[in-house]
Amino acid sequence: MNLTDAPDSASTPPQPGDFEVLLAEDDPVTLLTTRRFLQKSGYRVTTVDNGQAAFAALREHFFPIVITDWEMPELDGPALCRQIRATSFPGYVYTLLLTARTSRDHILAGLEAGADDYLTKPLDEAQLIARLKTAHRIIELERRLTSANEQAIKLSITDALTGCFNRRHFMSEFPRELDRSRRFGTPVSLVMCDIDHFKRINDTHGHQTGDEVLRAVAQVFRNTIRPTTDWITRYGGEEFAVILPGTDLKGAMILAERLRQNLAMHDIAIPQGVLRATASFGVASELRVWPAEGATAEQFLAAADVCLYASKRAGRNRVSGPEALGGATSAPA
Ligand code: GH3
Ligand code: MG
Ligand code: MG
Ligand code: MG
Repeated sequence: MNLTDAPDSASTPPQPGDFEVLLAEDDPVTLLTTRRFLQKSGYRVTTVDNGQAAFAALREHFFPIVITDWEMPELDGPALCRQIRATSFPGYVYTLLLTARTSRDHILAGLEAGADDYLTKPLDEAQLIARLKTAHRIIELERRLTSANEQAIKLSITDALTGCFNRRHFMSEFPRELDRSRRFGTPVSLVMCDIDHFKRINDTHGHQTGDEVLRAVAQVFRNTIRPTTDWITRYGGEEFAVILPGTDLKGAMILAERLRQNLAMHDIAIPQGVLRATASFGVASELRVWPAEGATAEQFLAAADVCLYASKRAGRNRVSGPEALGGATSAPA
């Protein structure tokens, strides 16, 4: 992956219409003429007549470019720049001070306050356009870096074969899920799943077909869970963990049974025709019941694993919860 993979590649330079400009100016005539000029140049412009209103507008709606006067009531230009730099926004806010103050000390003070650029009045229209092109470049660069960074984070938590979360993400996120459930007093359940006789599938049809089956299993599971809350991890080679925040043991048993049935009934397309696979499931849930109140993520995993192996021992293609340790399992019809 590199920066050129980001959606807006350098081959299509951004246009003024891609940027919303917030213009802060207390002099009505300057405000009007500057706004007209910017609009004529293709920018979408919102105007305010003081720094406080500018900051409020920015909190309300993101503007990548702020052009601000120096002297304004409430909050002046440099103070506005300082507030912008001290605040986190969805993207970089490029700020340009537009002022009648031309001394070297003022320029330095303006830049020190956090302005990216400084332009003196009376407005030199050609210069403003040229300097806004610099703003485009900086904003685009920042957008591409952010997008590349988001992509890298996504890759680092995703299993490449199945598109599920990977084990690393599970290991860091599942303990947090347990913490949340304790804090809010809501249940959380864990369904562990291991494909039955997967080695046989590899041995009979080849490793690539085995990979196809893993992808298909992940897809069946994705189609079965509640996408807004539940999430799936490829925990190991042919093992998946399904995390069900807000779901108690009863609900988790029902969901695991649905996963089992949907998989068992699903025709998996392989080069040789179609194939069916089954899996065994183990469920851990409701802290007070199983494995124990205040259980660690490891204890939770071990509890689901014990149930999973109860399913294997009982003949595979079935779901076991804590009651399985007393003998009962949910077996295929
Ligand atoms: P059981 O019903 O007891 O679970 O039997 P099994 O054959 O599924 O269990 P076992 O753990 O012995 O075999 C798991 C197999 O999964 C062995 C390994 O080669 C295979 N495997 C692990 N990761 C991958 C993968 O990414 N792709 C493919 N094709 N196979 C994999
Ligand atoms: Mg002013
Ligand atoms: Mg296994
Ligand atoms: Mg297996």
